[in-house]
Amino acid sequence: MGDIKSSIHQLDGSLLTPSKRAILETLIERGPQSRAAIAETLGLSRAALSGLSGELIEAGILREAETSHDSSRLGRPSILLELNADHGYFVGVSIEQVNCPMVLADLHGNVIAQLALPTAHEPEEFATIIADGLTKLLTNAKIARKNVLGLSVVLSGFVNHSQDICLQSAILGWHEVPLARMVEDKVGIPTSLENNANAAAVGEKLFGRGREAINFSVVTFGESIGCAHYIDGKLYRGHGGGAGELAHCTIEIDGVPCRCGKRGCLDTIASQHAVVAAAREAGLAATTPQQIEDLAKTGNPSAIRILHRAGHALGLAISHLIQLNNPERIVIASVNGTLGSLFRTVTGQAIDAYVLPQLGSMSDIRFDDVNEIFWARGAAAIAAHGYLVGAGSAKGKRDAA
Ligand SMILES: [Zn+2]
Repeated sequence: MGDIKSSIHQLDGSLLTPSKRAILETLIERGPQSRAAIAETLGLSRAALSGLSGELIEAGILREAETSHDSSRLGRPSILLELNADHGYFVGVSIEQVNCPMVLADLHGNVIAQLALPTAHEPEEFATIIADGLTKLLTNAKIARKNVLGLSVVLSGFVNHSQDICLQSAILGWHEVPLARMVEDKVGIPTSLENNANAAAVGEKLFGRGREAINFSVVTFGESIGCAHYIDGKLYRGHGGGAGELAHCTIEIDGVPCRCGKRGCLDTIASQHAVVAAAREAGLAATTPQQIEDLAKTGNPSAIRILHRAGHALGLAISHLIQLNNPERIVIASVNGTLGSLFRTVTGQAIDAYVLPQLGSMSDIRFDDVNEIFWARGAAAIAAHGYLVGAGSAKGKRDAA
């Protein structure tokens, strides 16, 4: 079944030669490139590259982009190849607790239209909500369904390698749910499923701050803490899809119980949920991280202590991440301002304090302010990536094809 699934996620068979896929992967990994640069990267002759890229341009997947001036060629401009934004559209849906953002994006990640879908509990209900939402979204955007080339749903939980089954989601209470097939049956568009942190990483790689990075990690900070890695230009999902469980790394031995069943996880100290709970226990008049930041600014010692403890824990966890993976960049995505200035400052200081200096100095730490459609846009990136080169890291499916 996996093989059938992967074939409908990708371009039609005539376009699936390994060399053409390698060209698309190079452009995803490195951004717009000249023909000469792509030929050199892939070890192809210029004539061969020219023929292959010509066919991809003919198919509308690539286009010639702006020119770059190469000083070694006396100012003669060279033409770059890039993905053609208008080739088709991709839909991303993020299943969340309050509502489920749905976006329609082009191949460059520009959001054409968006909707907030209601949330639900049962998978079947979600499939119906997504199908009804898609009809409304396409009507609003005046886009024909045939121009939508892929749809992806992302959620908090483990997803299998074929990206069609949610193996386990503690938040949703799901176990072995074939959600991709359920949605695909209703919408008639190739549909995949992904963990939301992995989607955030693919979104940053295709559309955001990870674009030119080969080795990077994304740490998302919203209702919960998520984490995912790109290693050697590919999404690293781990043996069972569980790579990046930063939120449930033990930070405090014998700490308080965590919703995962362990104790003292990062999630029990630094998540939005934990920070707000600590404020409540301290009797602070604050129900959001922003309000705790505001109190800290007025010198409230409890608010300062809570944010120090949370930032310290987050920085400690990120210092471990740097030492394990030696990434060139870490993007810390703050959703709707959940990471305020004191929290960020303490996080940065804790990273510096705990990381081996020679490794810490190699990693560029960036905070990125993102809004509520962040994960849905990442989902659209997953759909686009799946369409272009096969789902997820592409590697498994490339090997299988
Ligand atoms: Zn935990």
